[in-house]
Amino acid sequence: MEFDGSILIQITDKLKMSARTTEDNPQMTFHCQKCHIVLGDSFDVCGEMKCMDSIMCLRVTEDVVVSDANNEGELADCIFSLLICRGCQSRVGKVVHSSPACFDAVRSLFLLSKASISCYILNSSSMVEASTLTFKMNALKESVTEVKNRFEEQLDRMSRLQIRLANTSAFDS
Ligand SMILES: [Zn+2]
Repeated sequence: MEFDGSILIQITDKLKMSARTTEDNPQMTFHCQKCHIVLGDSFDVCGEMKCMDSIMCLRVTEDVVVSDANNEGELADCIFSLLICRGCQSRVGKVVHSSPACFDAVRSLFLLSKASISCYILNSSSMVEASTLTFKMNALKESVTEVKNRFEEQLDRMSRLQIRLANTSAFDS
């Protein structure tokens, strides 16, 4: 069997990549600070809303209960729901349904309040308070780029199909 150096290079690249990902964005699960039930994880984080002291998440677990929408209290001019921990009924964040333009970036995202969340960091097996960490926007940027690339690929395939179809029908007539 011949030695294929390219496989080795691929594996090393993959290792380098995973090392970098863990360094920049450590993988972690989010827990209710009171009852420690799992509320979400770092795969679904798309950044941090500093002014609301919240982690922005695309998804949360089924142990996060979304309350009825209301527009009273701390968020003026917004219609929002509270996020409640199923385990201990404490408030763990909000989701904004309708808001003035300044809250556009967070609309429909789950905003987990950093003050109510503990993070279990997988590679160091340690539990820290979310308020001691910062959450970067990288994840969202990466997924938007990924979706864009996939979309462009599809578009390219469609236009090639269209050309082939046009050629076939020209041949038929
Ligand atoms: Zn709880």
